[in-house]
Amino acid sequence: MTDRQDVIVIGAGAAGLAAAAALSRSGRSVQVLEARDRIGGRIWTRLEPGLAAPVELGAEFIHGDSPETYELLRQAGGSAVDTSGEHWSLIDGRLQRRTESLLGQVRGAFEAAEVLRKPDISLETFLAGEAGRALPEEARAMARAFVSGFDAADPRLVSLHSVAEEWRSGGMLDSSQSRPSGGYHTVLQALAGALDRARVQVRLQTVVTAIDWSSGSVEIQAERLGRPWRASARSAVITVPLAVLRAAGGAPGAIRFRPGLESKQPALDRILCGAVLKVMLRFRRAFWAGHDGGRHADASFFHSPGKVFATLWTPLPVRAPLLSAWVGGPAAARLCESSDEEIMRAALDGVGTVFPGYDVEAELESAHLHNWARDPFARGAYSYLGVGAGHARELLAAPLGGTLFFAGEATDTTGEPATVTGALRSGARAAMEVIRHSDASS
Ligand SMILES: Cc1cc2nc3c(=O)[nH]c(=O)nc-3n(C[C@H](O)[C@H](O)[C@H](O)COP(=O)(O)OP(=O)(O)OC[C@H]3O[C@@H](n4cnc5c(N)ncnc54)[C@H](O)[C@@H]3O)c2cc1C
Repeated sequence: MTDRQDVIVIGAGAAGLAAAAALSRSGRSVQVLEARDRIGGRIWTRLEPGLAAPVELGAEFIHGDSPETYELLRQAGGSAVDTSGEHWSLIDGRLQRRTESLLGQVRGAFEAAEVLRKPDISLETFLAGEAGRALPEEARAMARAFVSGFDAADPRLVSLHSVAEEWRSGGMLDSSQSRPSGGYHTVLQALAGALDRARVQVRLQTVVTAIDWSSGSVEIQAERLGRPWRASARSAVITVPLAVLRAAGGAPGAIRFRPGLESKQPALDRILCGAVLKVMLRFRRAFWAGHDGGRHADASFFHSPGKVFATLWTPLPVRAPLLSAWVGGPAAARLCESSDEEIMRAALDGVGTVFPGYDVEAELESAHLHNWARDPFARGAYSYLGVGAGHARELLAAPLGGTLFFAGEATDTTGEPATVTGALRSGARAAMEVIRHSDASS
């Protein structure tokens, strides 16, 4: 079967849905092709009966200021809740409240050393140098832990310029964090609801395998429910994750481009794909709230520096017996190789380390995990910049021949890559590029 539309959008994550909505608003016919049997990509909410908090297998927080996300929540009748609560750290075997800003000290060292005026190096190289060694060991450890945990990055590979930009005063370190109340699926409801179904066809379970293109023409080969399937259009918006774009032809999920994407190779080499593992542990009761005389009843985050699952968080302000255990960066990359059961056990051990004296296994009702690194349609968690990457995101985002357009979190150039916000913005940007190009050529 073949089908011809104005635009084909590949991928029904935040970027693809945002692009499809903007294109349909401009009057174009759009076909969205999605490999999975659901929309959302790396947004995946599970609602468990009897549990007041959603189980977010992918994105959970709204980082900083994101008018796009708040507007989508408003459209779906939802809202966001502030998650800033108490942080407790396991220090010398005891949970203690952190007050001093170790990351602030590292940021100060970046500024004093004027790192943004010098050639790019890795965070680890900086920490091993004179300016880094002048920092307390605790601050250096925190910098590594934050870059691994938050950016999913390897401190030995991540661009110091990108970290210093991200940590600038008034930026991410100083901003609040919220989450959609009721779950990120509310954002998906708004995105799906914004599609003009007279113009947009969404085809799930359609794995794109090849794209043959020339100026003004795109021929797609796919597998749909186990059978070969074809479609064509004047242009395509490609929103598959970075690691899928990089996968070799023939690998599950990989797409063969003819002509190939050689011009994007420098970007594909310098934008790296990070690893994270998030295990959502549902317990019989929120035992941590009563621990140590109830001192942690208002805790949002528990940190256990040096441990594999170094961060745990609660669903506060929602009170529910759910803990999320998180590991990112090289430790996550290693653990991603293990079975789901081994990963869940490691997460449970992490909870046991923070709360000794509880039989956490006996308290556990269920554990939930999606290993994104093993998922052929993600092949990792989210992107970060390697040393010397410079304008690699702009290069990855650049259209080819007025026919192929690129979106997805890795292509965000507004300072919010690796997030839902960045994905939404990239989809809207790619749609505008399609519209501008077709207006100019008609
Ligand atoms: C565990 C985890 C936690 C996260 N936490 C947060 C958070 O708290 N806050 C935040 O803002 N962000 C978070 N993120 C990042 C956020 O989820 C992503 O940046 C964002 O969802 C990416 O959207 P996207 O549209 O660019 O990509 P995706 O959502 O990955 O969409 C791409 C789509 O392409 C499809 N696809 C792939 N290959 C093919 C193919 N061959 N044919 C057809 N379709 C294909 C995929 O199935 C997918 O649906 C998290 C990510 C992970 C993994």
